[in-house]
Order: sequence, then structure tokens, then C-alpha cells
Amino acid sequence: MRDIQHFVSGAALAGTSGRFGDVFDPNTGEVQARVALATPVELDAAVQAAAAAQPAWAATNPQRRARVMFEFKRLVEARMDELAALLSSEHGKVIADSRGDVQRGLEVIEFACGIPHVLKGEYTEGAGPGIDIYSMRQPLGVVAGITPFNFPAMIPMWMFGIAIAVGNAFILKPSEKDPSVPVRLGELFLEAGGPAGILNVVHGDKVAVDAILAHPLIKAVSFVGSSDIAQYVYAAGTANGKRVQAMGGAKNHGVILPDADMDQVVNDIMGAAFGSAGERCMALPVVVPVGRKTADELRERVVAEIETLKVGISSDPAAQYGPVVSAAHRQKIADYIALGKDEGAELVVDGRGFSLQGYEKGFFIGPTLFDNVTTGMKTYQEEIFGPVLQIVRAETFDEAVALPSRHQYGNGVALYTRSGRAAREFAQRVEVGMVGINVPIPVPVAYHTFGGWKRSAFGDTNQHGVEGVKFYTKVKTVTQRWPEGDAHDSAFIIPTMK
Ligand code: NAD
Repeated sequence: MRDIQHFVSGAALAGTSGRFGDVFDPNTGEVQARVALATPVELDAAVQAAAAAQPAWAATNPQRRARVMFEFKRLVEARMDELAALLSSEHGKVIADSRGDVQRGLEVIEFACGIPHVLKGEYTEGAGPGIDIYSMRQPLGVVAGITPFNFPAMIPMWMFGIAIAVGNAFILKPSEKDPSVPVRLGELFLEAGGPAGILNVVHGDKVAVDAILAHPLIKAVSFVGSSDIAQYVYAAGTANGKRVQAMGGAKNHGVILPDADMDQVVNDIMGAAFGSAGERCMALPVVVPVGRKTADELRERVVAEIETLKVGISSDPAAQYGPVVSAAHRQKIADYIALGKDEGAELVVDGRGFSLQGYEKGFFIGPTLFDNVTTGMKTYQEEIFGPVLQIVRAETFDEAVALPSRHQYGNGVALYTRSGRAAREFAQRVEVGMVGINVPIPVPVAYHTFGGWKRSAFGDTNQHGVEGVKFYTKVKTVTQRWPEGDAHDSAFIIPTMK
């Protein structure tokens, strides 16, 4: 059995806790490796290594730090095939999707390559008589990121790409379900010329997370995962005086107005609802067709598309999606399907009976469609995170705007229409953080920022872009003058610019 170790100070660090987690191949359902689960002792070793390495890295000029990022990007691109195959083998998403996972992370690395420009700071000449003011952004020191299973390459790169480029040392605590790619990223950062101790990977579960939240040397924690844990991490981390951003779950709606291009809608909805087996925080698991005609047409066409949808193993290039991440998660999705039926939703297509020949023990679940879902249902209110699409019928535009706005989650939303006026009104009124207009998965590009509203995000700053730079730095403002002679002002009165 292969053991996956921590990566600390540029080398593998064997776990000493004696605790391990199983890493499955979701295609076969078999355990393919075990991952060391850290205790506070191993976490502390990583933090000490990071704290020792960080001052020299922060003192390295930003252009040199950027050069490491350029080289890291080159190395990751050169190993794209290897990384995508490894990612798919532990996560279950198809190879093309794994490549997208790595690529979207690399786009944040590209942003980080421009860090000398972004870090330039501000300067005011002559703010007072002989007074100039300048501000600079300085790194926090040691910072940590805790990431979910569903984007094991992209989300770590969202975080460490920027955190490291601005001069911090980073502790990554990736999901214990698919930990291998994060370790490879740590190794490639070292190969790219990153100093040992600047990017450390510590595996673990709640024990490791709690150790991060309690460690006095960790100044900021970025978390992405489910909402209850995000809220816990936010509360515990801030109570310990840390800066925390914690992104949570989602239940994104796709609103379809009667004038929408139905060919585009159906094509986009199929990918956004079922792609990656629905295990995306920006998936579209709810569609809201406005008007009966729109709803009936959508339902009929989605059913027809589901019939041709191909579910297969993650390395099958013809497969549109693969297995979900674990047996427990598959069971959870199946339980939600049963609940939806009990709650009175109409189960149009039931994916629970799906089985793939030769892979009967894999964690597969077929595409599932519910119609006539209503807002009182638990299956509507909660995140299912599987290949389950729910149709919630609306009569009017106002009703359709209200649905995502009133939902407990507010990550993403999409609107399909040919009306610019309706689109503008929708974008302005809807209570959701990321809006797509005729775009099903509106994940902003790396130089914009990513973040939801309501229970989809705790804390004030978004991921990546300039907000990421702000999160991982603190501002220092210097007010200076060089007086001549010995004309001294009164030191007892607060200086003003009157
Ligand atoms: P998760 O909340 O189970 O795990 C996230 C991280 O928290 C992992 O590193 C895990 O080890 C750790 N963790 C698990 N249980 C913990 C506990 N009790 N205490 C402290 N830490 C704990 O999430 P997941 O299943 O890995 O990922 C899926 C979830 O992440 C979904 O809810 C999805 O919507 C969300 N997600 C959100 C975004 C976003 O940006 N908003 C992006 C991707 C995924």
C-alpha cells in the first residue's frame, strides 16, 4: 500500500500520529493509498519550518519571487498529463475536467507572476508642508489554506499562488480524499526554485484543522469547503485573532426566461448540472424556467439529453462524467433522491440504479431529474452536490429573481434571456455573489475575484485577484518629513491639514 506523506521544508515528512485516511480509486471503489493524518506535532513542525524560511523569502525582491512563479507555471504545464491523470484517479472527475482544474489554478499563478506591479503601493507627494506619504503592503508571515476535495489543484493554487508571491510562507492542508496532486504541486514549487519551507503540505482531518486554527504563528487562514465547517473555521479562527476567509457551499440557480435561446440553455444546463458529477460549487443544480411553456419544453429536452449522456470511468475520453468521490457521498446523494420523492417532488429520471459494467463497485450514480420541486422541500434548501437537477417552476420574472435571492446560499446564479433590460435588472437585483448572463458557470477569471454571499462565504475578502493580495498582506503607511533648521511645531496638538 502506497503511503502519502506530508511535505515539509522541501522533503517528505512521515506521519508520526499513527493515524491514516484511506484514499480510494472511485472508479473501482478500492483503496489505492493511505494518507498520513497530522497531529498538532506535525503541524507545528511545518509551521516552524515555514516561519524559519519566510523572512528571507519576504526579503527577496518581488521580481525574483515572480520568476519562481513563472518557472512553477512552466513546470506544471509540462506535467499537465501526469497531474490530470493523478487527479482523476483520486477524485473521479474525467481527465478533461482535471486538466481544467489544473489550468484554472495556473491562471492564478499567471496573475501572481505580475506581483511586482500589484504590490507597488501608493504615494502622495506634498500631503502637507514638506510631508510625503507612502503605503506599502507587507506579507503576514505564515499563513494557511484548508481546501475541499472537489478542486484539489485549482483551489490550493488560488490560495498559495498569491500568498507566496506576496512574500508569505504557506501551510496547505488539502482534502484527505485526494491529497496527491497538492503534494506534487509542493514538489514542483521546490523544483521551480522556491525555497524549502515556503510551501508545505500537511495532510489531515479535523485534528489538523483545529491545530491550524490554534497555532499562534499562523496569521491568516483561507478555507474552502462546506458551509457548517466554513462557519466553524471562521468563528474559531477569528476568535484566535486570525484573519479568516471561509467559502462555503452553494445551491446555484439557472433562471430561464421565455425568450432564451433554448438550444444554448439545454446544452449549458447539461454540462453545468451534471459535469464533474455535480461536484462543483458553481454547478447549476436548480433550474427555474419562467412560464409553463418554457418549463415543459426544458423538461422534455433535458430528459432527451439525459438519455444520451455517457457516464464512465474517469480515464474514458468519451465519458461526460465519472464516479463521485466516495461511497459515503454516493449514499448521501441517493438518500437525497429518496427524500425528494418522499417530499412530493416528481422524480422524472432516477439515477440510483446506475451501474457500470466491470466497475460495479465504483462510486457511480446516474443523472437524476426532479420536476415540480418547491421551496419548502429540504432537497431544495440543502446542497446535494451530486448529478441531480431540480426544476423549480416560476410564473413571473419577480418570482424567479426572488428564488435565488431568498436561498440560504448565494454563490452563483445564471440567467438566460435575449433581453438586455431583463439581464441588467436581474444582475442588479439578485442577492448572489457571482452572476452569469447566458453563462452557466460564472467563475470569474483570476484577475477578478471569486466569492459568494450569505452562507456561501464567511469573511469580507474574496479569493484571488486584488482581494487575494489584500487578504495575504497588511498595509503600512509611512508619513515622512525632513525638516530644515530647528522650527518645531507644538507636539501637543493633533496635527491637521487646516
Ligand atoms: P468539507 O467541508 O467536508 O471539507 C473541506 C475541508 O475541511 C477539508 O480539508 C476537510 O479535511 C476539512 N474538514 C472536514 N471536516 C472537518 C471538521 N469537522 N472540522 C474541521 N475541518 C474539517 O468539504 P468537501 O466535501 O471537501 O468539499 C465540498 C464542499 O465544498 C461543498 O459544500 C462545496 O460547495 C464546497 N465548495 C465551495 C467552494 C466555494 O468557493 N464556495 C468551492 C469548492 C467547494
